[in-house]
Amino acid sequence: MKNEILSGVARELESPLYAEEVSRFNRVAERMGLDENVAERLRVPQRAMVVTFPYRHDDYSEVDSLFGYRVQHVLTMGPTKGGIRFAPDVNLGEIAALAMLMTWKCAIVGLPFGGAKGGVRVDPLKLSRAEKQRVTRRYTTEIINFIGPNKDIPAPDMGTDEQVMAWIMDTYSQHVGHTEPAVVTGKPPALGGSVARREATGRGLVSLLPLAADQRGVKVDGARVVIQGFGNVGKYAALAASESGCKVIGISDHTGGINNGVGIDIVEAIEYVEKNGVLEGFGGGDVITNEELFRLDCDVLIPAAIGGVITPEVAEEVTAKILLEGANGPTTSDADPILNDRGVFVVPDILANAGGVTVSYFEWVQDLQNYFWTETEVVGRLREILNRSFSEVLSVSIREKTDMRTAALMKGIKRVAEAKLARGVFP
Ligand code: GLU
Repeated sequence: MKNEILSGVARELESPLYAEEVSRFNRVAERMGLDENVAERLRVPQRAMVVTFPYRHDDYSEVDSLFGYRVQHVLTMGPTKGGIRFAPDVNLGEIAALAMLMTWKCAIVGLPFGGAKGGVRVDPLKLSRAEKQRVTRRYTTEIINFIGPNKDIPAPDMGTDEQVMAWIMDTYSQHVGHTEPAVVTGKPPALGGSVARREATGRGLVSLLPLAADQRGVKVDGARVVIQGFGNVGKYAALAASESGCKVIGISDHTGGINNGVGIDIVEAIEYVEKNGVLEGFGGGDVITNEELFRLDCDVLIPAAIGGVITPEVAEEVTAKILLEGANGPTTSDADPILNDRGVFVVPDILANAGGVTVSYFEWVQDLQNYFWTETEVVGRLREILNRSFSEVLSVSIREKTDMRTAALMKGIKRVAEAKLARGVFP
């Protein structure tokens, strides 16, 4: 390693997820014999912005100072792209790690973007709608020179949604003096959002299930599926899985889980959550904890909530033959070898959940051209890109005799490294 600080975890970026992703990168870079000059550049983000800003509570009782972040990992590939999360424990290192994952994700599916990520350290569940709007607009104002349709294009992530994207788009448009839909993706369709963006991550994920099932001899029809998380990703994954003939026997959110061996009625569960905000109180099965959820006997496990939940202890007890990673970074790096040894076919986050950013790319293209596609066009092109990317990663994994995560990283890192070497060093 050329630079001792960069070879480990850059101190500024210290966080468990960043350490995980750098160690995964180092392992794969070494295996690929990656030029160390390039490796060193890819270990750290090119740009990272930390802001603090005030927001006023609705009752005028207090003004809180919040931390916000936006990290752009690689600017070589085009504008940068990635979501914005609102979560109580967000920090710079986590955002940097997630930006790095976005770089690999975009490269694996062949999008003309580098990776980015943003976040505000706040609990979105504790914000009223008006408070969330003020936080969003002020955060956007603080990072306004950092983002733009040709610079860096945010999107939803944990704790943010179409409405938050609409406020970002409006704040940016007010600032530049004209309507600029292409500055964010995942907007409501009325503002230039793409049809099928909302469900793209969850549905894209499940569209890979038949390909993964072939690898382990699992029959999709009747397959028992367990899903952690019932937000934008988990909910649509559950719906797509039940529509494909799977039996969704376990679901959960932060209030706990539900188990029903004959299959949960997902349409009813979605209706219940839309009305009540949480799964708690939904009567469609036995109440279980999130810990128990991971131990349910099943064929397919889909973590679609927070990072770091598939630890070595959980990995030892997973009964699923297929793990489809809907969340970003759900599996810790020390759990990877355990899953591999136990024969679990892991479709890694950077491939499995790439449907979201792929339709974000479609949305950006449609906004720039002011020409909007039909649902059939969006869904067809998404399927084509995801299927091709899966097959390409699978071929690397067969050729290199390695797991799908390593293969996906090899593919993503190779593409970015080639671009970096071709562009050279400035000045
Ligand atoms: N936040 C999503 C992800 O992690 C989507 C990013 C995007 O659409 O730009 O992939």
